[in-house]
Amino acid sequence: MRTILLFLLSILLCSFYAPEETKALREWTPATVVSDEAIKAYSIDSCFKAYPISDAIFSRMQGKSYKKDCTIPRSHLRYLHVLHRNVDGNTQLGELVCSAEIANDLLDIFRKLYDAGYKIERMVLIDEYDADDERSMAANNSSCFNFRVVSGSKTLSKHAQGLAIDINPLYNPCIRFSTGKVEPANGKPYATNRTAKQKTPVPFINTSDLCYKLFKQHGFIWGGSWTTVKDYQHFEK
Ligand SMILES: [Zn+2]
Repeated sequence: MRTILLFLLSILLCSFYAPEETKALREWTPATVVSDEAIKAYSIDSCFKAYPISDAIFSRMQGKSYKKDCTIPRSHLRYLHVLHRNVDGNTQLGELVCSAEIANDLLDIFRKLYDAGYKIERMVLIDEYDADDERSMAANNSSCFNFRVVSGSKTLSKHAQGLAIDINPLYNPCIRFSTGKVEPANGKPYATNRTAKQKTPVPFINTSDLCYKLFKQHGFIWGGSWTTVKDYQHFEK
């Protein structure tokens, strides 16, 4: 009797949440967790796609990542849908804005990372953090385009062109040796002893890491190989 009741209850629950998942996929509601069944029904290939920047996306970016003085034409940018495995290993909807030049690289890399079960905690537009890099990094949010200068300088960052991406930034922080500053500040415990077996919910990016290998294969430069700055989260082309 109990089994029958549980069975009926699960059917009832499915009928309630399945349309929600389908809606989240159709509208691409970032950071929503979806089931394998829902993805199968929607088609996995449709979950890794590049689109022009729609009016709806552009309105989220204006005055934030796409600042008033932005010199990059909107038509040079793409809005990507990707899936990623979150810290629990569940599938989550990810979004990115990048340069059209690297859109296909990123789609291929994130498909391979997803298929390999590589964990990425969160991937929503940096505009959700008002394009504040420190806040986005502190939340371990992976992001790409942001029209901004290199932290502590007047030089435009590769992020300003949508040609750089930061992955799992909290656990792969940026260390500036001239000042000793770690970005994000709460990433300090992960700035050193990166070969030791620290228990972290997502992998450290190092030269044996899959993420590093895929970006390298696609011709990206890794910030972790720099000397005056170690930017473990950062890949650019
Ligand atoms: Zn970066």
